[in-house]
Amino acid sequence: MQRAQTYRYCPQCGGPLALASLKPGEPPRLRCGACHFVLYLDPKIAACTIIRVENRIVLLRRAIPPAYGRWVIPGGFVDVGEAVPHAAAREAWEEVRLRVAIGPLVGVYSYPQVTTVVVVYAAEVIGGRLQAADEALDARLFAPAEIPWQDLAFSSTRDALQDYLRVDAAALPPLRPATP
Ligand SMILES: [Zn+2]
Repeated sequence: MQRAQTYRYCPQCGGPLALASLKPGEPPRLRCGACHFVLYLDPKIAACTIIRVENRIVLLRRAIPPAYGRWVIPGGFVDVGEAVPHAAAREAWEEVRLRVAIGPLVGVYSYPQVTTVVVVYAAEVIGGRLQAADEALDARLFAPAEIPWQDLAFSSTRDALQDYLRVDAAALPPLRPATP
């Protein structure tokens, strides 16, 4: 989580930043004492995909903090100037080596005190082969009944999967019997 205190110097001139009340009713802002530049702390945008392969969903185990070792849908931060759906498809390739076509928006997820806004799309595989790649310990397909709800990385992971399954449940084909 970003905290205002972590930034001490002005990115424009190197002068000292200090919290200042600029408008009533708004939080204090970091302002440079030398050039008066105001550093606004904006949210970061993450773009993610729920990739369905037949009746299962792609999850990967995170190989980096935060939430090291927990399961998450493929996704990552949008680069400045990059279209959000493009970032979602790029991350799917980087993390699980699947080429995907981006489908409908599942939802946009944000929470108090959390500095990342998560945009989640449904996606379909158009190429590649599932494997754990960048920042992933493992990558697997999960039937809805197998999703490790207690071991998911983030609130947004849980909420997006719930929203996706709620809307899509009627369309999901019945599960295949487990093979012995
Ligand atoms: Zn300055």
